[in-house]
Amino acid sequence: MPPSRKDSPRSKTPFVSIVVPLYNEEESLRELAAEIAEVSKEMGKSYEIIFVDDGSTDRSFEVLRELHAHDSHVKVIRFRRNFGKSAALSVGFKEASGEYVITMDADLQDDPKEIPGLIAAMGDSYDLVSGWKQKRHDPLSKTLPSRFFNYVTGRMTGIPIHDFNCGLKAYRRVVIKSLSVHGELHRFIPVLAHWAGFRVTEKVVQHHPRKFGKTKYGVSRFFNGFLDLLTVLFTTRYLRRPLHLFGVWGIVSFVIGAMIDGYLSVERVLGLTSLSDRPLFLVGFLLIIIGVQFVSIGLLGEMITRQERDEEVYSIRETLG
Ligand code: UDP
Ligand code: MG
Repeated sequence: MPPSRKDSPRSKTPFVSIVVPLYNEEESLRELAAEIAEVSKEMGKSYEIIFVDDGSTDRSFEVLRELHAHDSHVKVIRFRRNFGKSAALSVGFKEASGEYVITMDADLQDDPKEIPGLIAAMGDSYDLVSGWKQKRHDPLSKTLPSRFFNYVTGRMTGIPIHDFNCGLKAYRRVVIKSLSVHGELHRFIPVLAHWAGFRVTEKVVQHHPRKFGKTKYGVSRFFNGFLDLLTVLFTTRYLRRPLHLFGVWGIVSFVIGAMIDGYLSVERVLGLTSLSDRPLFLVGFLLIIIGVQFVSIGLLGEMITRQERDEEVYSIRETLG
């Protein structure tokens, strides 16, 4: 009897695609693939695992080649060099065809046993379920900055989740097909999804200490994370209306500067003061210049974005008729 379409690994759309970006994780891959296979069997659903080898320099790819040879669920994409986790995810998303898509780290810190729960948490009400490593097994040097990062990101974006950068997430296919994850923006996937109008929630997940190898990010992650937050705020919130951002502050600065200098000029004309010993005059002067600059930057921004106005920036849920 031919295998039923639903269970066949060759069926066009598996129930779930598991996307795993990895960089030098040779020791973990076999165990990870075995655990995913076990969980998927328990779920009784079709699946595919998409490993994206982000230019590993260890034996990761050899291990993947072997896994692929023995298991038709395993797909492997290999980068020529290390392009970063965002690039790896982005390519994995392109390749994924499952109804649901799971992302998880390759280092066994994320537990495949969480997969059914994450998909269940989506129910009918959500499009993205982000893992929340409530009890983290990482050194303090990582958890502390991470808390701060999550707090600031939550406050600035207004999205009430605790762990933006958790590698373990579940998505409906439509979410990953409509997001563009470039640069280092994988940290902000929930933000990008939320702003595209998808419904985002979180679920507490198990987290394990790193068993093999070491973390691929140093302190730089912290600073880069914040610069990226700026990028995200800018490109998603203000990209379409740069003058609103720069214009308001430009005008405020200009008006305050003009009032200060206007007042000092009147005093000077009335002969009450001499401008040379009023440092405040320079402050006003500076504010006026900054104000003009900001408005000009905003206008330049408008001119630049004008060219891209026609591009699709919204995300359509459905159309009838
Ligand atoms: N990773 C990647 N490309 C990189 C850095 C990391 O694909 O340039 C992968 C890495 O192999 C792991 C996941 O991204 O599967 C998370 O990385 P890591 O465990 O080092 O981060 P941490 O858990 O310390 O946040
Ligand atoms: Mg890790």
